[in-house]
Amino acid sequence: TNRHGCPYDKDDLGRSTWGLLHTMAANYPEIPSKEEISNVSAFFSIFAKVYPCDMCAKDFQMELIKEPVEATSQHSLSQWLCRMHNKVNNKLGKPLFDCRLVNERWRDGWKDGSCD
Ligand code: FAD
Repeated sequence: TNRHGCPYDKDDLGRSTWGLLHTMAANYPEIPSKEEISNVSAFFSIFAKVYPCDMCAKDFQMELIKEPVEATSQHSLSQWLCRMHNKVNNKLGKPLFDCRLVNERWRDGWKDGSCD
């Protein structure tokens, strides 16, 4: 958590941004229109150019080339984003997230009711 009222450092920015991105994937349609697919693809390619952490942005651009956005359904987008986040976790030596749990974490809340 960031010091109240202070500029974001790299980690504050990362946490907030992952929150936005995973929440976008959580709310993405099960059956997207062609326009929704093309919007989310365009979003990520521009995002990778404007994200205000230079080394993060450069790496994310490379990863996007290796593994382009999969936006054909809520499942495919949220799983793709989970894998992209895990690539960053791996690079930073953080534990990998179990992608089977991504909708519990970001959409439905945990099965134990702790988010209700
Ligand atoms: P975060 O990694 O910010 O994760 C927040 C929460 O997301 C976690 O608490 C967990 O509940 C959940 N979560 C974790 N992994 C996953 C997953 N795979 N799928 C779904 N949910 C998950 N930092 C650098 O130092 N170098 C970089 O090159 C770098 N590149 C980045 C690129 C992007 C596109 C973004 C958005 C951030 C990048 N960051 C980078 C920041 C870094 O990823 C973290 O946000 C930061 O280190 C804070 O980490 P954290 O441990 O608080 O959790």
